[in-house]
Amino acid sequence: MFSDTHAHLTDEAFKGRIDEVVNAFRAAGVGLVINVGYDLKSSEESALIAQNYDEIYFTAGLHPTDGEPATSAYLSRIRSIATLPKCVGIGEIGLDYHYGGDREEQKKKFLAQLSLAEEARLPVSVHARDCTADMLEIMKDRAEKLPAVVLHCYSMGAEAAKLFVRYGCYFGFGGAITFKNNKQIYEVAKVVPTDRLLTETDCPYMAPVPHRGEVNEPKFVPLAAEKLAELYGTSTEKMSETLLFNAKKVFNIR
Ligand SMILES: [Zn+2]
Repeated sequence: MFSDTHAHLTDEAFKGRIDEVVNAFRAAGVGLVINVGYDLKSSEESALIAQNYDEIYFTAGLHPTDGEPATSAYLSRIRSIATLPKCVGIGEIGLDYHYGGDREEQKKKFLAQLSLAEEARLPVSVHARDCTADMLEIMKDRAEKLPAVVLHCYSMGAEAAKLFVRYGCYFGFGGAITFKNNKQIYEVAKVVPTDRLLTETDCPYMAPVPHRGEVNEPKFVPLAAEKLAELYGTSTEKMSETLLFNAKKVFNIR
């Protein structure tokens, strides 16, 4: 059974067709989907979607660039959404320096939500873009205090991966590892052990080969598992079992 640990089913792309998307991933052998909030609205909607489908769980959080600012009012809303049934984590939170903006403000927002996750004893789903040095520095201290840290859509390279492994982090891999120009993944795979691997789609974005340019969906997550199986020299079946085991462990799902 396959698992998608980072989906955005609240996106416009899925409006009015969640049933269809769920039926399609069930038919593709996907048995667990973590739907990830990125602002208040998507976190609340994710809670509702999770109520309707057995396989779907959710997380609540404020994305570094898309979510609301981390005022105490917004943080307390996230805290209360996180107490709803089937909330299994805080996210997506993190740092994104790609488009500039105020780095100190982003760090404050990220750290505040790491603290919230620590208090709630929930794992975090982390978005990291063009911020490797800061992310390493933060995780060096904070990762061990959290139930688990998932570096979603990991793209910080093999050298940083060695350190993130040491800090106890997990690595989410999706469509990007199937792209032909992704050479980095071969080096990363050499340093990340299989018990730290997770698969994800980040749908509706990042559709894997051979579906690039299409709307991504959880039904495509087996392609990431297949690629990981190839990289680690094992069968897709065995790899998908490991990936599901890891996902359930990280998000404390029985
Ligand atoms: Zn995301």
